[in-house]
Amino acid sequence: MLNSNLPKIDDETRVAVQVLADSRQRRKSFYRPGLACFLIVSVVFVCTLATFVTAEDSFGKDDSVRNITLEQLAAGDVQLVDLTHGLNDKSPFWPGADYQPFELKTIATIEKNGVFSKTFAMPEHFGTHIDAPCHFEQGQPGLEEIKPTDLLAPGVLLDVSMAAEADSDYRLSLADVINWEQANGPIPMRAIVLLKTGWSRFWDSNVRYRNQDLQGKMHFPGFSAEAARWLVKERQVRGIGIDTLSIDHGPSKDFIVHHVVNGAGRYGLENVAHLDKLPVRNFFLIVAPIKITTGTGGPTRLFAVLPRNK
Ligand SMILES: [Zn+2]
Repeated sequence: MLNSNLPKIDDETRVAVQVLADSRQRRKSFYRPGLACFLIVSVVFVCTLATFVTAEDSFGKDDSVRNITLEQLAAGDVQLVDLTHGLNDKSPFWPGADYQPFELKTIATIEKNGVFSKTFAMPEHFGTHIDAPCHFEQGQPGLEEIKPTDLLAPGVLLDVSMAAEADSDYRLSLADVINWEQANGPIPMRAIVLLKTGWSRFWDSNVRYRNQDLQGKMHFPGFSAEAARWLVKERQVRGIGIDTLSIDHGPSKDFIVHHVVNGAGRYGLENVAHLDKLPVRNFFLIVAPIKITTGTGGPTRLFAVLPRNK
């Protein structure tokens, strides 16, 4: 009896109401995971942003070198430090079987030929030079494939010369890098990190620079794998450089630092000169390697641009 008093719902309306109820239910179950996903993505985005903000982008905000203009550079109104060793037949070089000293030969003189000209020969990895990413890792860019924009970057200088004085095999530790940041602020993102070990004082002696023991094992300082990994991952360094024969320390057999750096598509700079003339930060590097087609590395002119002392 009671039911018969209620307004009658025809079949069509019942179906329509059911469809509406179903779609609301679907929307609810869609929104819940959707909202959760949105929140997770937002949190990840904010955290990533925070990491990048902690390490200043490209330049440190207090680095006055960022204000140098091309006019000042062209007018010489800057300090320019040449970080390149001169090349000659006394230059130290890697003790590999097919490595050879620098050779220079005169092929024409003004007296005889009306023109002065020479020819030279050297291994790619000789003197102040770059290690292209393909040097230790397959499928990575060769020398002529390194982007020119990766060769111009702010630089920072870390110094382990005291530790290397006590231990020739010393490796820059991750703790050294963190301590440096605590004292000098974050390393700018995509900078070039140079390591001063004091080894360039031995440049005039191939024997002292290599520092081989009786078994032929070399002893000189370098980067540790942990520090290199952190610099590549957390600071996205374009490259790392050092004032010794190798970014790996002398006794290394596995060349792990080369693998870390080259494996990430980044380059190394070796036998860098005059690092004693650089401040800890606030300089800009111009890396100008030779362009050898299919090259794995090559001699490189390296300049640091600094604001002029007022
Ligand atoms: Zn090299």
